[in-house]
Amino acid sequence: MVETRFYFVMQDMESQIAASAGGHEPARPYVGRFAPSPTGPLHFGSLVAAMGSYLRAKSLHGRWLVRMEDIDPLREVRGAADQILRTLEAHGFEWHGPVMWQSSRREAYRSVLDALVKIGLAYPCGCSRKQLAESRAFLQLPAGVYPGTCRGRMVTNARKRLAMRVRVDDAEIAFVDRLQGEQRQDLLREVGDFVVYRADGQYAYQLAVVVDDAAQGITEVVRGSDLLDSTPRQIYLQQVLGLNTPGYLHLPVAVNQDGEKLSKQTHAAPLSHVDPLPALWHALDFLGQGPPVELRKDGVDAFWRWAMAHWRQERVPACPAVSCVARAAQIFYE
Ligand code: GLU
Repeated sequence: MVETRFYFVMQDMESQIAASAGGHEPARPYVGRFAPSPTGPLHFGSLVAAMGSYLRAKSLHGRWLVRMEDIDPLREVRGAADQILRTLEAHGFEWHGPVMWQSSRREAYRSVLDALVKIGLAYPCGCSRKQLAESRAFLQLPAGVYPGTCRGRMVTNARKRLAMRVRVDDAEIAFVDRLQGEQRQDLLREVGDFVVYRADGQYAYQLAVVVDDAAQGITEVVRGSDLLDSTPRQIYLQQVLGLNTPGYLHLPVAVNQDGEKLSKQTHAAPLSHVDPLPALWHALDFLGQGPPVELRKDGVDAFWRWAMAHWRQERVPACPAVSCVARAAQIFYE
């Protein structure tokens, strides 16, 4: 699929022992994770992702890690990271080992970026948003696709900070999502060379997530389907870096009546610390597990005991989005 493969040793990476990709159950001890960004308090949509990954890991007797994706100071809300951890605790989640903080991982990201530059796969890009929009319009490219402007141009600009992009081959990335089934993306035509380091001096999510999933030895990534179309970029990076590809399982995301994902912008309500059971119950119901109504009043420990004993992966709706409009709206919206 990808010709260029570059193998190098990253001291802190257990990745080389991570499970291989494919539609099979992981052969190695399962390691899953929840990776929130501290852009605001957790809401029902984030609870679904946390619960899905947690119950999947528990049902396979695996470890479940928490990684705080605090690499974007512009989007970070002060105090949100601590609040997220307290909310997870209040909802009865127990994670394995210390939380990984992406803000402390810049050295690891830099060494990977340097390696990508060394093998000629990453290059500087000085395009502004306006220039990109103009080239796209001229070349009749869809929104979001990089027109390749700075490819092979050796851009330098002492006055301006440059982004770094990674070249993508003219190849299709295909994978089998363990819930959503077979996925394909023609990276060059649908995405183009993508940003791994931003002009504002921050490492891009796509790079950080690949480096950290490998460093934490993640064998399966369970997260919301809003990230389904990022996955081929991540698999591509794993391939060019010679890292194992974990399994992927993208859960349905909760959407409102306009099909918009629950978020701060769509007025998603923060989860309650005082009374976590209603949201826990609805999240388990959303994940298709059919929890009995009594579970709404028996306490958080009893809730998890039932949820772990009754988790059935095959009951999770295999669709990218599920509307939660008809459900108890007061939990979801402000
Ligand atoms: N930090 C991302 C988010 O909160 C999730 C990243 C991931 O699970 O890969 O949307």
